Amino acid sequence: MKIFCVGRNYSEHAAELGNAVPSEPVIFTKQDTAILKNGEPFYHPDFSSDIHYEVELVLKIQKMGKKIKPAFALQYVSEIGIGIDFTARDKQQELKQKGLPWELAKAFDGSAPLGDFIPVNQLDLDNISFSLQQNGKMVQQGNSADMIFSFAQIVSFISQYFTLKVGDLIYTGTPSGVGKVNIGDVLEGSIGNKKLLHCEVK
Ligand code: MG
Repeated sequence: MKIFCVGRNYSEHAAELGNAVPSEPVIFTKQDTAILKNGEPFYHPDFSSDIHYEVELVLKIQKMGKKIKPAFALQYVSEIGIGIDFTARDKQQELKQKGLPWELAKAFDGSAPLGDFIPVNQLDLDNISFSLQQNGKMVQQGNSADMIFSFAQIVSFISQYFTLKVGDLIYTGTPSGVGKVNIGDVLEGSIGNKKLLHCEVK
């Protein structure tokens, strides 16, 4: 199982980190050991003192495909869920300044909490609202309508480089409002008003 992530897919989030809006999707990957399922806690690593939450809609791939045309790309997606792309912002800044790859800041163990999924036929893909609460307070709110690259464009783009397989996941980018997590925090992600993700920071 592969995990792909899209960076800077919401212009307000690109702006809050001082990044330009990209002309093609920014793609990076995480390892399968990044996934936290079924409400497993996140153990805060000690190599960072600035881990940020980034709530994201997550696509689940249902059939193998490569070089998929955008017009057919949604046929490869079975379900959409919600996840967090934990980011060691201090480490990422250090790596970015040196022009080095992001993996250490993005793909570490537990960096991809994953909630429950909803079948695509129960969603209006162009208008999925989603949100993250930190200790009961709303900290991020987004809508798929605001994505720079659509689900179809993302699936098509990734498949030009990597063969997609059943069960692969794509984290589709975070809206603005990212922030630091602390030990003891409870993070809860929702699509619409359905709470689908629960993660405690330990
Ligand atoms: Mg992200």
